[in-house]
Amino acid sequence: MPLPRHKLRSDRTDLLTELIDGWVSLAQLTPFRDLQEQAPPWASISQGAAGNAYALWHIAKRRSQPSVLVGAQRWWRFAVRAAERRSGFRSAAFNRIPITASVPFGRPGLHVVETLLDHERAKPTRSGLTKLAASLRRKATTPSEFMAGQAGGLTAALHVARWTDAPEMREVADTLAGRLLDAPAMPVNGFAHGQVGVQHALLTWFEHTRTPPPANLVAQLVSPTDAEIIARVPTLAGSWCNGLPGFVMLWVKAYELTGDPAWRDRAREAVHTLATLPSTSGSLCCGAGGHAYALLALARIDASEDWHSTALTLCTRGLSQVADHGVFRGLPGLVCLAVDLITPGTPRFPLVEA
Ligand SMILES: [Zn+2]
Repeated sequence: MPLPRHKLRSDRTDLLTELIDGWVSLAQLTPFRDLQEQAPPWASISQGAAGNAYALWHIAKRRSQPSVLVGAQRWWRFAVRAAERRSGFRSAAFNRIPITASVPFGRPGLHVVETLLDHERAKPTRSGLTKLAASLRRKATTPSEFMAGQAGGLTAALHVARWTDAPEMREVADTLAGRLLDAPAMPVNGFAHGQVGVQHALLTWFEHTRTPPPANLVAQLVSPTDAEIIARVPTLAGSWCNGLPGFVMLWVKAYELTGDPAWRDRAREAVHTLATLPSTSGSLCCGAGGHAYALLALARIDASEDWHSTALTLCTRGLSQVADHGVFRGLPGLVCLAVDLITPGTPRFPLVEA
């Protein structure tokens, strides 16, 4: 006889609670040298020590558990140490990606973590905030895309502004949004490297500034067919970075800002296609974790199915298919997802949804 649904859900909630507690304890004890058992880079938010620090901050805030910030500070110091080495941000696989202005891959990500942690101190300094504002503002020639450039910077600025209320971050966000609105459109590609992520960041900025998006932006929102998205990078069709989940996040945001039910229907259609695709990894970036966050975004605007339950299944499935470190590629990202799945409040894909 199958287990009743509520019993299944409570069993999985217990499992995820144990996972979160276990990972938090482990993160307090893991030595710096363990980072080097994973292929570099070792400092970044995406797959290094800054990602572990960010995940611990996320847990501390979502669970109102300030004691976890001690571990976050510890991993922050590891990230600074790793960043002193060339392998902090570079590896054979990362030599061609521009990382200077990248929040997930580069030094601006460390400044994001420093700023968030600094804000939690009894006597905050302005060290992280000053560095973050300078690094995000630096170049008008920075690529527009999310992963390497200004769309990721805009989203990070809005995220930090939400948590710290720092006026500098709102000014940086306004600057980056202005640049992105003036920039020529990128190829559609996917969320991480194309116009999808740029438009999502801009819609998020309009949402935060409580301004309706202009009609020309809404008219230009990208909407290829599911088949076209799958055909572009078939091996990553189920990923947030290059596949359908990234588009779902854009279309959910489009519905939230315009109220046009066509965007909700488009997101729902893509999610049904997603359910038919094989899963290739567990991570937030490339696999089940990002798929789960897309379902949680859809759950905000659509109650026609139990998207939360499917996201729980994806989270538990993804746990065994991730690297050890970092938010985008590693287990800490799935721990953030686990916290979001079982804690009251609004789930937000770390640094992707401000
Ligand atoms: Zn990816």
